[in-house]
Amino acid sequence: MDAAHCTSAKGDIPVTDSIHLVLIDPQNDFCDLPAGWCGSDPLSESAGGLTAGLTTGPQTAAFIGSLVDPLADPAGPTAAKLHAPALPVPGAHQDMLRIARLIDEASERISAITVTLDSHHRLDIAHPGFWTTRDDLPVAAFTQITAAQLRAGDYRPRDATALARAQRYLDELEQRGRYTLMVWPVHCEIGSWGHNVHPAVKAAYNRWEDQHLRVVGKLSKGSNPWTEHYSAVRAEVPDANDPATQLNAAWLAELDRADQIVIAGEAGSHCVRATVEDIADHLPSQRLDKLVLLTDCMSPVGGFDAQQQTFLDNMRKRGLRLCSSADFLSAVAARRA
Ligand SMILES: [Zn+2]
Repeated sequence: MDAAHCTSAKGDIPVTDSIHLVLIDPQNDFCDLPAGWCGSDPLSESAGGLTAGLTTGPQTAAFIGSLVDPLADPAGPTAAKLHAPALPVPGAHQDMLRIARLIDEASERISAITVTLDSHHRLDIAHPGFWTTRDDLPVAAFTQITAAQLRAGDYRPRDATALARAQRYLDELEQRGRYTLMVWPVHCEIGSWGHNVHPAVKAAYNRWEDQHLRVVGKLSKGSNPWTEHYSAVRAEVPDANDPATQLNAAWLAELDRADQIVIAGEAGSHCVRATVEDIADHLPSQRLDKLVLLTDCMSPVGGFDAQQQTFLDNMRKRGLRLCSSADFLSAVAARRA
């Protein structure tokens, strides 16, 4: 993010006694990690980790392609033995390094940290394995499916018994007017490497925990396979029978106890956006000036830059503060002085 996105001049961000830091989905699968951060995957060749990755979409293919150096290992591409982030957001790795630095440098001012964790099953209405085309062909990642297309039979669930429920979901999703169903690559599968927190962020918040004897809150979302769940506050279409999809009033009340709620993470076009919009709509005090968005600690999914920019513009109009991590740290240092 460039300086034009910062609406508050240096020193204009009041640093308060009680800061709740919210990190949205700072997970390996969303980060454009350099090869040295990817770790080895002993099954990657037999499981087709790399080969499967190449079929998941243009950005993923380009990213993995950049890792492959067939000359580096005579036995095969080195990258085939590495984990590959499933849905790398361009710029996310650097965002995570800035978040880690912010935790370390503002440590004594931070009173609480919540990390949200995108947590999916492999079979999910927003993953390719759920769907097939009219001609029984696989549905590629990054396909959008509208309610009308489902009704017309262009796409259908592979499990025929899921059709009525999927149709109800798409109808209600579109009625809410925020998103069209997107089929993403399988990502943040519970128990996988990609579900783990970025190592630098985890190391930084572990230092904060050790120093302050407080536990970082972990907020899991996305485990109901019948609804997308971008927002950490509630699912895109809450399920009356699943409290985990409904408005998380307890977390909103906890956030509201802080003087300042500082938010960063991935992706700015989707999960950060949806979470912040829901916090702004439902924060009990409606003190939206307590919310600070760290504009250089979030990035949009590739191709969704405009959505992130519109989101930031709208939030600024609603009274939220936008600033860079450097400006925020300057304000922390100024208060310390
Ligand atoms: Zn997800």
